[in-house]
Amino acid sequence: MRRALTLPFRYLWAFPVTLLGLALVLPTLLTGGRVRIERGALEVYGGFTRFFLRRCLAITASAMCIGHVVLGQDRECLDQARDHEHVHVRQCERWGAFIVPAYALSSFFAWRRGGHFYYDNRFEREAYGLDR
Ligand SMILES: [Zn+2]
Repeated sequence: MRRALTLPFRYLWAFPVTLLGLALVLPTLLTGGRVRIERGALEVYGGFTRFFLRRCLAITASAMCIGHVVLGQDRECLDQARDHEHVHVRQCERWGAFIVPAYALSSFFAWRRGGHFYYDNRFEREAYGLDR
């Protein structure tokens, strides 16, 4: 019940981050990609999004969350990563726009400790179920 009452606020709070993800919708649709809604998030896959996830990040990603937008190379990648990515959706709902610098700082501190910038990032560890 409480979660339902806070729903509009969570979408609004995460919206600055969601806007970044929405920027990929048109290029993806114009290059043969698709869009659908799953669990209250917009899933964007194929086309330009596949190129973005393969070539434009520090590591190749099968899927990625940007606010209430979940990017995937294809539908299968989204199906496999959905639980993980929705942990990130909830993180975005908690942190709002602060998720961007917080995520970057967590990667930096993980690297400074001698860990991996991705696998030892606290947000990723939570999404992988490692910090419970
Ligand atoms: Zn992740």
